[in-house]
Amino acid sequence: MSPTEPPDRTPPDRTPLDRTKLLAARYRAAADRPYLAAALYALTVVPTSRVPTMGVDRHWRCYVSPEFVDRTPVPELAGVWIHEVAHLLRDHHGRAARLPAADQRDHARLNIAQDCEINDDLLADGLPLPAGRMEPGLFGLPSGRLFEEYLAGVPPQPAPHDCGSGAHGRPGDWELGGADGPAGVGGVEAEALRRAAAEAMRAHRRSRGTLPGGWERWAEQVLEPVVDWRRVLAGAVREAVAWAGGAVDYTYRRPSRRTPALRGVVLPSLRRPLPSVAVVIDTSGSMGDDDLAAALGEVTGVLREVGVGSRRLAVLACDADVQAVSRVSAVEQIGLAGGGGTDMRVGITAALAARERPDVVIVLTDGWTPWPDEPVGCRLIAVLIGETTDTSAGAPEPPVWVETVRIG
Ligand SMILES: [Zn+2]
Repeated sequence: MSPTEPPDRTPPDRTPLDRTKLLAARYRAAADRPYLAAALYALTVVPTSRVPTMGVDRHWRCYVSPEFVDRTPVPELAGVWIHEVAHLLRDHHGRAARLPAADQRDHARLNIAQDCEINDDLLADGLPLPAGRMEPGLFGLPSGRLFEEYLAGVPPQPAPHDCGSGAHGRPGDWELGGADGPAGVGGVEAEALRRAAAEAMRAHRRSRGTLPGGWERWAEQVLEPVVDWRRVLAGAVREAVAWAGGAVDYTYRRPSRRTPALRGVVLPSLRRPLPSVAVVIDTSGSMGDDDLAAALGEVTGVLREVGVGSRRLAVLACDADVQAVSRVSAVEQIGLAGGGGTDMRVGITAALAARERPDVVIVLTDGWTPWPDEPVGCRLIAVLIGETTDTSAGAPEPPVWVETVRIG
């Protein structure tokens, strides 16, 4: 018991919490999976009959129903402890906040997708879980995926399903408040707990030779994060287009494709003219065909999604060696010449000279190019393709007013 232990929130007429049984289950979970011990012991127990089983908030408080503890055997309670701490270690609430707004609002579906991400790993690890648990198979979904991948396959839920704000992100009225409240863990401490758990898992794997697959992938991601350039690039393009269109949140401007009644109806917010975009491709650079195709595919895909069709998109191939800039209508027309002598300023100038001046210019290059000295009067995104080590080994940094995304 820490001195800041929060008060028992169970009304006096209800079952008192069997703390001995609950803590025995935590001890068992920590003893069986020692790499989770520090995280499990960072959780503060808050008894409350407001939750049906157990749940966590974003500040590592674990809300526990005394009735649930009473009726659940210790081995299953141990599994639920690991389930709850998994929501927090896997930063479910942080990841939920990066979903589109409509998905974030659908707490029950989101929470079930998150439970699927956790429970298939726990069951594969041989942990018993109480009946009624969610798992991907219930929805015909494969095991071993992340909740972001499961979400589309989880149908709308008639009943609430709530593991707390530590899962889906929205605080329930039974939660105790922010990190400043009783025994709350702050963001920095939570990051440290995640890192320590990932390191403990790696050490466990080295000494024992085994670690459940789900935790192994998670620990790798924590210790050696792979920056998902597609997400970064898509975010930069969306944001630039939204900004250029004068919209703060364009997601509310598009009627859902699942709402056929709205088809053909022009919503007031859609009358805003869509911005036009120019993509300038460095054809004399040293980037590979595959990387270029992937980057261009991502850019054109996002543009199509936000409503910037081919009429508002100019793609320019820029071979500065011969001072030639040509407008292309199909990606297959772009020939990569290789070699050096890139000057993407030529391509940017050509793009800005078009009759319909672009609001956003996206430059795909290997980075070995000079950049304009001054802001060019539109949003400029530099997509640097190829080995980042090459880039850092001498290619000029784009100026600070250029938004830069690195691929490779
Ligand atoms: Zn859960």
